Amino acid sequence: MSVAAPRRRAKFRDDYRFSLTSRDVTRRPQAKESRQSRFLTVFIFCERKIRRRDGPSLNGGTPRAPQKLLPDLSPPMTHPDTELRYVNDVIGYGVFATRYIPRGTITWVRDKLDQAFSASQVLGMDEPYQQVLDRYGYVDRNGLTILCWDHARFMNHSCDASCLSAGYDFEVAVRDLQAGDELTDDYGTLNLESSFTCACSRPQCRGLIEPDDALRNAERWDDLLRAAFPAIRQVSQPLWSLVKEPGGVLAASSDVSRMRSCRFHHVARGSAGIPS
Ligand SMILES: [Zn+2]
Repeated sequence: MSVAAPRRRAKFRDDYRFSLTSRDVTRRPQAKESRQSRFLTVFIFCERKIRRRDGPSLNGGTPRAPQKLLPDLSPPMTHPDTELRYVNDVIGYGVFATRYIPRGTITWVRDKLDQAFSASQVLGMDEPYQQVLDRYGYVDRNGLTILCWDHARFMNHSCDASCLSAGYDFEVAVRDLQAGDELTDDYGTLNLESSFTCACSRPQCRGLIEPDDALRNAERWDDLLRAAFPAIRQVSQPLWSLVKEPGGVLAASSDVSRMRSCRFHHVARGSAGIPS
């Protein structure tokens, strides 16, 4: 079980985004109704088309099985065999496997639609935007705050994370995931600005997750990654086309001594975006 902790500071549960949307409807009813109306019109039109196509045939034959009426809302940059699920009021949402995902599978890739903000850009934002970034963003090795546009921003922390990132812009499953297992990562790898208390209840739980955890745990995380990397070239990789350094990753998969350490992501305290 993971814990719903922010990647930077705890202020909101995951359902903050949805309560904000509700208030937004109250404040701007016309704009929202207009968007909803357009969506419903398109949806109803599509539904009618599907029902006509799948209804009983005119010659009295057996009707075809009904097709899925709702569109697939899974973003293409997280593994397709995952989905967002509501866990509880404390944890909020999490990302879960819908099918078996073997160790070595790339589960998320940082892509061109993820937003990146400099420290000065973040400081220049109004408070509501900063709160969203506090909740869902993480700091990369360049001190930029990254806001993932896909389900990755809902991945929870676990001290026994199922996914980790070596020194590349993707995460890989470091153990086999069964359908229903949660995809988690270790927020200690994400250049935290402050500590938070963890309640993941795993035997490995560190209790307090601290900004410099990466320095103390990097060797253990690298061991897990080195065990997973050989499988990268052996298992199905739906996200492979998004990997930015495929040659280097394949070389590291063949010879794990060439794998770039997770330390690659670490930003020293006092660097851009990370207070000393
Ligand atoms: Zn923990």
